Amino acid sequence: MPKFVVIGGGAIGLNAAYQLARMQAGKVTLLEKGQVGDGSSSRAGGIITGLLWSETGVLARMISLRLYQELSEDLEQYGYRFQNVGCLNLFDPASWAEREELLPLYDRLEFGYEILDAVQIRRRWPDLTPEADLIGLHDALGGYSEPHEYVPALARRCRDLGVEIRENARVSGLQIENGRVAGVQTAMGVLEADVVVCTVHAWTAAFMERCGVRLPIKSFVHQRYVSSKLQERAAIPAINANPYGGYIRPARLGTTDFRILAGGETEDREEERVDDPAFHMLVLSAPRRVRSLLSENLTPLVPKLAATRWETEQVGLISFSLDSEPVLGTLPQLPGLVVGAAFHSGGLAYSPVAGLLLAELAAGETPSVDISSFSPDRFTKEDTDAYLATTVVQADAFRRRH
Ligand SMILES: Cc1cc2nc3c(=O)[nH]c(=O)nc-3n(C[C@H](O)[C@H](O)[C@H](O)COP(=O)(O)OP(=O)(O)OC[C@H]3O[C@@H](n4cnc5c(N)ncnc54)[C@H](O)[C@@H]3O)c2cc1C
Repeated sequence: MPKFVVIGGGAIGLNAAYQLARMQAGKVTLLEKGQVGDGSSSRAGGIITGLLWSETGVLARMISLRLYQELSEDLEQYGYRFQNVGCLNLFDPASWAEREELLPLYDRLEFGYEILDAVQIRRRWPDLTPEADLIGLHDALGGYSEPHEYVPALARRCRDLGVEIRENARVSGLQIENGRVAGVQTAMGVLEADVVVCTVHAWTAAFMERCGVRLPIKSFVHQRYVSSKLQERAAIPAINANPYGGYIRPARLGTTDFRILAGGETEDREEERVDDPAFHMLVLSAPRRVRSLLSENLTPLVPKLAATRWETEQVGLISFSLDSEPVLGTLPQLPGLVVGAAFHSGGLAYSPVAGLLLAELAAGETPSVDISSFSPDRFTKEDTDAYLATTVVQADAFRRRH
């Protein structure tokens, strides 16, 4: 029976393990250096949209949205449901011009969307008061995935499907035999595998460099907040509110506890280098001013925010590749390894399809989407070295939201 080792217990690794188990591909072991959900996945905003900027991205997200519906059914007994409230992507007239050019792509791929003006937006969601000149691109299939429900439910489902999840099991390197990956090295010794799937997110660049491969990936601190309890549910969808400097969505702590979640970048902050294999996201913090700035910026869009305060904060990392597209695939110099990383601020949205694609590659099947534009091998050595030699601030990295 083939043996698969998945490194990393976040949404991407769990979905890869889940898909391998569903395919009955072989024995699946997932190794997590700390606890499942220790990384960005449990800190995410969880906003999901299919309306991306590349053909591969849109095709992949179409599968993710379908899989989220299926996960809703499969994980219901574990307390998870995808919240299909729709996703509204907001644009000011200047940024709309660029997005409008993508509409023929959405039409060709038959991805449904609606273009709404401010009056239509107010009419549909009475709790929203957008500026008169804003344009909304609505993705009716989008919504959000509540991370504190999604990650534990996936882990429990994986275990029930026979995946062995080992926590406190850091992988220190790859075991190479006869020119191919034959397992992973851990403090407990070598764990043999026919294929290793690496999903260690912000740790990827340093991990791969120790294995002799440089990948042009950088990470940035990112934060999101959940408000105090609302009197009643906010009538809003998930919103990528770029003109307001952030994103916002309804949040639930239970079936009757309704809140608002919001987040955004810290423009002037330098990239975060994750060189220490033992790095933990708990050491990250966000400047206090982010909270008040988010309230100031977003309250004109969602006046209900004025009656709340931010009650909880989550700080994590988002990772971008040199061209801002994900890094997903195999590497010719390391046969037996499949990598999935750099999902910008959309790793939760990508997670079901990323898991499927990683599992298909690991099992030797043809991936459901042509992912050549995500290939880890697409960067030249010169571009990679030059990119890694620079230090970038968040404002100069790509702004690719969810
Ligand atoms: C504040 C915030 C808001 C976000 N909002 C959204 C959003 O609205 N929508 C969206 O789609 N995405 C969002 N994201 C992005 C999303 O969270 C990430 O893209 C996604 O979680 C990446 O998943 P992952 O499984 O690759 O990484 P992680 O969840 O970080 O998992 C990687 C795991 O690997 C483990 N690991 C590392 N090294 C090793 C090793 N050597 N051995 C074993 N285990 C190891 C880590 O401990 C970690 O648990 C947000 C991120 C942040 C920080």
